[in-house]
Amino acid sequence: MDYEISMLFPEGKRKALTFSYDDGTIHDRRLAALLNEYGMKGTFNLNYGLLGKGGMETVNGIETDFSRVEAEEVRCLYQGHEIASHAYSHASLTGLPKNMAATEVLKDRYNLEQLTGELIRGFAYPYGAYNSQIEEILDACGIEYARTVESTGDFSLPEDFLAWHPTCHHEDERLMALAEKFCREEKDGPFVFYLWGHSYEFAQKNNWELMESFLKYMAQYKEDIWCATNIEILDYVKAYRELKRSTDGKILMNPNATPLYVAMNGRKYCIHGNEKLELPS
Ligand SMILES: [Zn+2]
Repeated sequence: MDYEISMLFPEGKRKALTFSYDDGTIHDRRLAALLNEYGMKGTFNLNYGLLGKGGMETVNGIETDFSRVEAEEVRCLYQGHEIASHAYSHASLTGLPKNMAATEVLKDRYNLEQLTGELIRGFAYPYGAYNSQIEEILDACGIEYARTVESTGDFSLPEDFLAWHPTCHHEDERLMALAEKFCREEKDGPFVFYLWGHSYEFAQKNNWELMESFLKYMAQYKEDIWCATNIEILDYVKAYRELKRSTDGKILMNPNATPLYVAMNGRKYCIHGNEKLELPS
């Protein structure tokens, strides 16, 4: 086909890196600080009903602090990152009647919005439990994407953002091999490395160096990688999907304010907000 283009991320990058961490335990403090240190952005999935609760628990013989962060620190702690919903009380939504599942989502969304002054548009399924009925409920509650716990081992964007499968969990034994594959990938993108987990797992297993090595490795390639929150990626993809094209494919028109980037024959092009671009023959 003539004028075959591929999507690029902001600044003409082919790759994006994003994080998704659940439950809002106090270990998010160290995780957020680590992400900040390396200039990376993440999404933190919180249960409003559990903020300030929890304590020491022994799991597999190891005593770990499962305390949740305090409501008062949420705004400051997650500054520069995204706060998303993980249901009000961490209930498994597939086990609830529809109205109660909707309440779990809306009550969490409403309270987190009141607390932060931000719109809460993302979600992570508690226990990874979802089905098409739950997806419909999330959609009705104004949730635009939801993360599962099913690792893909690849870097593709989801077909259905309400079942957004991550690349892998941080304890996946393929972690560094996947990181290397991602950074060395030279084909047209877009590629997304989507890492998920719980910050208490680092405390429980005393393996913070795992995350630090990953961040250090990825940081070397930051010139090629867009570090973004989950919702920033979704917003960009949505804007890209609205790109208009002439019948012959030569003219591109961007009806949104966000600048959009495309690649054609190894060259990069930017279509500024509310502007047209004619591709060279
Ligand atoms: Zn959880």
